[in-house]
Amino acid sequence: MFSLTGRSVVVTGGSKGIGRGIAGVFAEAGANVAVAARSPGDLDDTVAALDGLGDGKVIGVRADVSDPESCGAMASAVVESFGGIDVLCANAGIFPEAPLASMTPQQLAEVLDTNVKGTVFAVQSCLPALIASRRGRVILTSSITGPITGFPGWSHYGASKAAQLGFMRTAAIELAPHAITVNAILPGNILTEGLADLGEDYLAGMARAIPAGALGTPADIGYLAAFLASDEAGYLTGQAITVDGGQVLPESPDALAG
Ligand code: NAP
Repeated sequence: MFSLTGRSVVVTGGSKGIGRGIAGVFAEAGANVAVAARSPGDLDDTVAALDGLGDGKVIGVRADVSDPESCGAMASAVVESFGGIDVLCANAGIFPEAPLASMTPQQLAEVLDTNVKGTVFAVQSCLPALIASRRGRVILTSSITGPITGFPGWSHYGASKAAQLGFMRTAAIELAPHAITVNAILPGNILTEGLADLGEDYLAGMARAIPAGALGTPADIGYLAAFLASDEAGYLTGQAITVDGGQVLPESPDALAG
């Protein structure tokens, strides 16, 4: 129905997991896609896997979103390769476990630097190109954890994911005159490399808590991102949209018993 052919898209954290799923959906839809992350090996693997899925180009850009200079270099590289930026998927994020009683200032800073400051720096660096696009789209990957739910060991992460929504609402107002929309996707538990690192017990417990009975896939997030990037979603801004197989719905475990 809608077309993303020829659109220039940047996906931070695009070399793995949800970001790679988002990048794959955009590539299949004919967009030119830049995947950005720190590790060159993963970037090369992802570019090789996604290139050729559609008619657009796929490139890898090394970038650390917690560093504003690195974000600036990322945006410049994408503009040089594709001629502009129409869509920024600010997806890069980390979720190391740190119980509150033993969390160090360094652990707290690391999560906030990547998830909160990294979101702001990525948006700021792409802003001139998004304004020039005249139909710019910013799509944040937040989470159900923080904005809606909590989980022991992830208080710093929950704070960072809720902070992204606070950022989104004012950014949506500031950027609306430039025809830029800013929205956030709140994934539930999506089977990614990062989530798999939490172990089989964690994954099995989460699957039991989801009415749909299974974890989501990175492409489940990518399809919503593609819609939010479309011209048809141009009147939709400042919204937080959950994609979780119904995970946040049960009032108690009994709701899933039958
Ligand atoms: P993942 O599999 O661990 O992948 C994370 C990606 O982010 C990798 O490409 C990683 O590459 C990149 N990255 C990490 N730190 C970065 C930095 N400082 N600069 C640039 N890139 C960086 O994670 P995921 O599960 O796909 O999660 C992606 C996003 O979805 C995160 O924002 C997370 O909070 C959110 N989320 C995930 C789930 C889930 O169930 N998986 C649920 C809700 C929300 P490098 O390490 O090479 O840089």
